[in-house]
Amino acid sequence: MENEFTTEIYYDDDADVSTLNDTVAVLGYGSQGHAHAQNLHDSGVDVVVGLHEGSSSRDAAESDGLTVKTPADAVAKASYVSVLVPDTVQPTVYENAIEPNLEAGDTLQFAHGLNIHYNQIQPSEDINVTMVAPKSPGHLVRRNYNNDEGTPGLLAIYQDMTGEATDEALAYAKAIGCTRAGVIETTFQEEVESDLFGEQAVLCGGVTALIKAGYETLVDNGYSPEMAYFECLNEMKLIVDLIYEDGLNGMWDSVSYTAEYGGMTRGDDIIDEKVRENMEETLEEIQNGEFAREWILENQAGRPSYNQLRKAEKNHEIEEVGEQLRDLFSWAEEE
Ligand code: NAD
Ligand code: MG
Ligand code: MG
Ligand code: MG
Ligand code: MG
Repeated sequence: MENEFTTEIYYDDDADVSTLNDTVAVLGYGSQGHAHAQNLHDSGVDVVVGLHEGSSSRDAAESDGLTVKTPADAVAKASYVSVLVPDTVQPTVYENAIEPNLEAGDTLQFAHGLNIHYNQIQPSEDINVTMVAPKSPGHLVRRNYNNDEGTPGLLAIYQDMTGEATDEALAYAKAIGCTRAGVIETTFQEEVESDLFGEQAVLCGGVTALIKAGYETLVDNGYSPEMAYFECLNEMKLIVDLIYEDGLNGMWDSVSYTAEYGGMTRGDDIIDEKVRENMEETLEEIQNGEFAREWILENQAGRPSYNQLRKAEKNHEIEEVGEQLRDLFSWAEEE
């Protein structure tokens, strides 16, 4: 297939849902699980949802018209297993419910490559290991499907034991609506490392740190918390929306000449060489496994640092100011 991108992109015509001609087990019924299971079912695939006996999601899955079994029984019945329980519990579920019930030639599929890439799950060589990862939260995967729209996704093949791993993963991607929008081929390594880097350096970590640093700089210099909140947090969404819709230059075209000149001359002073070096270090810790080791140990210890960090973020002044202002401007939510 020819395209202008460096990677392969698959669409509906590249996939055939009937390739999935045996039961698919969807383990977990959270954000991704409920969307995959229902979309697969509506696409004519035989689905069984795997949830443990006490799970509060059982009722939801059953009232959505799906068959529910224990994870172990679901894996035993299926030959295609989609692992959509939280990443932190996947190794335990794999050990207890999945591995003992897998047969040679089965497929183990993920929506994120973390546990495979960092060897927290070490699958035997006689199965396929694949990834189909929608680039969107589950409720949108479901809503888009119902609206005859697609959700862009990623596809990766870690092990192809049967020679059919790609065709089956494409069939799955089509059945959940991803090939309607386009599915980009990647590797487990690339998906995991770029995902972790993006969320740490730019999206979740970078953006919140930038907002807080800007807010604190204004407030420390005597500006009012309300003004600082609007300038450094509230307007972030407006700018990001413009960038999302029309690219960086679409945003530059929409702001004032003063904002454009000031932003272009001062942006690189703020995100300077030191920040680039910090980013290189963050990427290195992802690549050499240091971050993954830290997070695994943190979980084993009951998440002491995580809980402390969460508390500190809840108590940040910008959160109090924001709560009050968002209440005052609650009409904005109704739009
Ligand atoms: P989630 O937390 O929304 O749902 C997980 C579900 O797993 C729960 O609803 C529950 O039904 C079940 N579960 C929880 N603990 C369990 C246990 N101990 N045993 C059995 N079942 C259990 O998870 P999610 O966000 O849908 O993530 C699932 C996978 O999808 C992850 O690998 C994640 O990285 C990936 N992913 C998520 C998103 C997203 O936007 N949420 C996007 C792309 C990929
Ligand atoms: Mg089976
Ligand atoms: Mg991501
Ligand atoms: Mg992530
Ligand atoms: Mg302004």
